[in-house]
Formats: sequence, structure tokens, C-alpha cells
Amino acid sequence: MSDGGDSGHTQFPHELVKELHSLVERPLRVMVVCGTQTRTLLKYGLDEVLPENLEIVSGPGCSVCVMPAGHIDAFIKIGLQPDVITATCEDLLRVPGSRDSLESIRQKGALVEVVDAPMEALDLARKYPDKIVVFTAVGFEGAAPDVAESILEAAREGITNFCVIPSIRLLPPSLDSLMKDPNQNIRGLLCSAHIESITDTEAYADLARRHHLACAVAGFEISEILRGLISIVSQIQDGHQIKNNPFAGITSREEKAVTQKMLSEVFFAVETDWRGIGSIEGSGFVIREELSIYDAVKRFNVRFAECEEEIQCNCAEIISGKGTPTDCPAFGISCTSRHPVGPCMVAQEGICASYFRYTFGRL
Ligand code: SF4
Repeated sequence: MSDGGDSGHTQFPHELVKELHSLVERPLRVMVVCGTQTRTLLKYGLDEVLPENLEIVSGPGCSVCVMPAGHIDAFIKIGLQPDVITATCEDLLRVPGSRDSLESIRQKGALVEVVDAPMEALDLARKYPDKIVVFTAVGFEGAAPDVAESILEAAREGITNFCVIPSIRLLPPSLDSLMKDPNQNIRGLLCSAHIESITDTEAYADLARRHHLACAVAGFEISEILRGLISIVSQIQDGHQIKNNPFAGITSREEKAVTQKMLSEVFFAVETDWRGIGSIEGSGFVIREELSIYDAVKRFNVRFAECEEEIQCNCAEIISGKGTPTDCPAFGISCTSRHPVGPCMVAQEGICASYFRYTFGRL
């Protein structure tokens, strides 16, 4: 069992593991939705010490991994336009489209800059007024407020050489779609705290009720993840899907209302494609008509086309909880962190990347 490697000071919570063992009486399947939580779980070797009857599967909680190749193609098409600077997170650089990636077009001369936040992309627009800076807004609902703020700030300042490719995805509709598959047999969902801070908790409560699921929100520390799993198993054992509102108390109702008002000024939800899951009603944000000058998709008249991927990759099964990286014949052979084939190995939060980094030596 790892002591956490690079974290150094974290104590492994043996008592919580013991408590979990005492609670799991029969086989249960639980989805850990968030890629960061899956990474922590593997980093600490929790997968080796969890009760045998508790099967953990990963979910669609890696925003880069769920991006279909056709969407990457749209980023590339825009990035190849004259006078465009693409501002993107590092994770997205190497994700393959049907042929190219943002990194490969950068090597051919396109202007692609790595930024950590949309406001940095806006700074680039101020710095280079003769260019159009296009921010690749990839993320889940937790990333949406920063993107909305950058658009509203650009509008306030009258900056017109800045725009955004809206690729924000909303997790509750995708989970709803996955849970409709009776073969999943998932009894509980562990969701991450940063999603809860934006989304109305009722969305998760409703999801849990409709699919007869236990559900808990947890942070990213190992002890928080274990407490979340304990809450889920307790809910299932007690026959209550929602016990003591496990979603409450992280973000105040007032804070959420302010954030949601800002989001509704900028975005509205539409049907959106997810890699591995397909098209889901109301699962992605697009920019409102009155702010369309900040919508790169409209400005450059591109569309998110469906396309055949040239790569052979099992990411679709993995992000929908139907398989693990070790089921993929390429894992650790032709697909490694140095030579990633699919987005689940490229992205830091990617499930294959976490498996490769933390478990490959002991498989
Ligand atoms: Fe795709 Fe590589 Fe993961 Fe296989 S190991 S599913 S090829 S990312």
C-alpha cells in the first residue's frame, strides 16, 4: 500500500478502511465519477485494500476524455485560421482528433498557447490586439463560472478579439443516460465536491431517486473519498438512497444562486455529444445569441462534426464504466504515458493515465 508518494504528509486512514470492510456485506458496484478521485484512489493503493465485494468503476468525470474527436477537429479547424491564437489547457494539446491534435498543428506553425485559466486567454487578447485569441473552454460545470466571467469581462471592456469554443459539459444528464443501462448494475455514485458547488444539489438527489442509487459528494483527499464510500454503503445497507442529504453544506444556497444567475446570462444548455456515451439532451453549454461575438463556433462558422477515429482505443468503454484500462490490449504496450494513444492516457485526470502511473508496476 502506498503512503501517497509525493504528498508526503498524508496519514493512510486505516480506521476508515476497517469501517468500510465492516459495512460491506454483499457485492456492490459503485461508480467514482471524477477522474481526480480515481487518481487519488489508485495513488494510495486503495484499490488493493477495499473490500472484495465492493467493485469500483470509473465514470465520465474527465472533461478531456469525453471530448469526441469531431470536437477536437473543430478546435483544429479554428486554430488553423489566419491570425488566430488558440489558448488551451495543457491536457488538451495532445488529444487526437480524427487526424491532428493541437500540438501537431503547433508543430506545423499554428499559434497555440498553453494557459491555466480563461482570464489568461483574455490577457493574451489585450496583449495581441491584431490577433483573435480563441479559448478552448473544455470542462464540466465547475469550470463554467470562470469562462462566463471572462466573456462578461471582455464585453464590459469592449474587447472583440477574444472568443471561446464552448465545450462545457454537464454531468447529471450524462450520468442519467449511463444509469438507464440496466447492465451497469451500479448501486451508488461518488461525485466530486467541485461539481456540487455549481450544480443544484436537487439534480443529483433527483438522479439518485429515479435510478434507486445511493449518492455522496466527497472532496479529493483519501479520507474524504473513504467517507464518501462509507456514506454510500451505509445508504444502501439501510435501504435509504438519500440519507441526511449527503449533498448539503458545501456551498451555500446564496452562493449557488449568484453563480447560476451569472451562468444563465452567458450560457444555455443544449444537446451535446460525449465520447463513449453519445448525444445527450441538455448536457452542454452554448453561448447566448446576444454574446455571439464571443462564440468562436459561430464566428468562424464551424460545426462539431461526427467523424471516424483513426485510433483504436477503448476509452469509450472506460469512461462509461463498462471496462477498465487493463481490458485494453494497447494498455502499457503500444499506449503508455510517453506514447499515449487515446485521451484517457493523454489527460492528467484520464483513467488510463492514473492506472499506468500508479498500478502498472504491480499488475
Ligand atoms: Fe485508449 Fe490507451 Fe486507454 Fe487503451 S490504454 S483505452 S488505447 S487511452
